Amino acid sequence: MNNYTSFIGMEVHVELNADKKMFCGCNASHFQVEPNTHVCPVCLGLPGAMPVPNENAIWDVIKIGKALNCKINLKAKFDRKHYFYPDLPKGYQISQYDLPFCFDGSVTLSDGKVVRIRRVHLEEDTGKLKHANVDGRDVSMIDFNRSGVPLVEIVTEPDMETADEVKEYLKIIHSLVRYLGVSDADMEKGSMRLEANISVSKDKNLPPYKVEVKNVNSFRYIATSVDFEIERHKKIIEEGKWPAQETRGWDINTKGTVAQRSKEEAKDYRYFPEPDIPRIVLDENKVMEIEKNLPLLPQVARDQLISLGVRREWAVFLMEDKAMAEYSINLAKEAKIVNFEVDKVVGMLTNNKIDWKNKTVSEVLSELKSKSEEVKMDEAECLDLVNGVINDNPKVVADFKSGKENAIQFLMGQVMARSRGKADAATVMNLLKQRLISK
Ligand code: ZN
Ligand code: MN
Repeated sequence: MNNYTSFIGMEVHVELNADKKMFCGCNASHFQVEPNTHVCPVCLGLPGAMPVPNENAIWDVIKIGKALNCKINLKAKFDRKHYFYPDLPKGYQISQYDLPFCFDGSVTLSDGKVVRIRRVHLEEDTGKLKHANVDGRDVSMIDFNRSGVPLVEIVTEPDMETADEVKEYLKIIHSLVRYLGVSDADMEKGSMRLEANISVSKDKNLPPYKVEVKNVNSFRYIATSVDFEIERHKKIIEEGKWPAQETRGWDINTKGTVAQRSKEEAKDYRYFPEPDIPRIVLDENKVMEIEKNLPLLPQVARDQLISLGVRREWAVFLMEDKAMAEYSINLAKEAKIVNFEVDKVVGMLTNNKIDWKNKTVSEVLSELKSKSEEVKMDEAECLDLVNGVINDNPKVVADFKSGKENAIQFLMGQVMARSRGKADAATVMNLLKQRLISK
């Protein structure tokens, strides 16, 4: 069972941190807000209410699209996507179908693998159901504060093959929207939501089915569910069948996925153009300006770190936070100039050995420099100290010889203290062992 190919595509929903909702003037904040206080006829889906698109949200989507190398539809449109759910009072979601704002982009993983971005589109979020027990009855309540909040959907082609690739892709998207300042992408608050489409085949061709895994709110669990699905599909294919095309949910208790419903296709949504919103015509100059003024991007920071000599895993880690990435790049550049080993110095950031939030790059480097100069006591000088300590502590030496191995730690401490930290610990330990065993 080893000649299988997996095809994984991701759909990521990111809530924009907008002031106002997507199609009305309501306040878009909804986390820990008194339920149903940020609502109006538009976002409650009342008959006759007219949607007016939020221009800032549109430019935020263009930013994301450009940061993902997308082409832009200068003439885009909104469409109605029909489905029924209690948190969607209109019976349809305003989304985008055939003319999304952004399409045909790409993002490159640290190993050089390219993940194609199919589209980045804008839509409205739904309300939120709350299940509770009121007066002894189990009830479901709906909070419409989230209804109509600008939501961006980023869809890839099925180009990923492993859970690790999925995790790295998601880290890039998560960092990217934060670098751009358009979303806090907080998984716990639900402002970043993940769906994976998974298929497996015995040859290199995309098979005639896919399984969608929904409602997974951590990178770790999406990775686990991807692995789980790949194994599940392989077993079914081994029996000469195809897995059913369906939507599955992640079960945190069993650490597995469970079937939820058969997967709908685009035609089931009966998409058609939103008649209440005219075509959106974008100013090409403004699009170019956005592209020109893009800030540092996580994947670019990562590649820069790698080319400066930082190992790949560390670069991927340091990329996640913009301030840390910028600091690492400066540190790597400066370390290179003063002939420090870049990977070693920058590596200290990854295990918190550098207080980067409170120290400038030059402070850190000069501290490292003086430390490296301090530890310059040569072996002969160390040996003098070792001999001195051994002579002055006959009882401790006797303890060691009678089997108390910890006694050597005391002697070591004495030598280090006498050297005022200028001796190299490993050298001292070696000399101590040689002397104590030969004596
Ligand atoms: Zn509203
Ligand atoms: Mn969507």
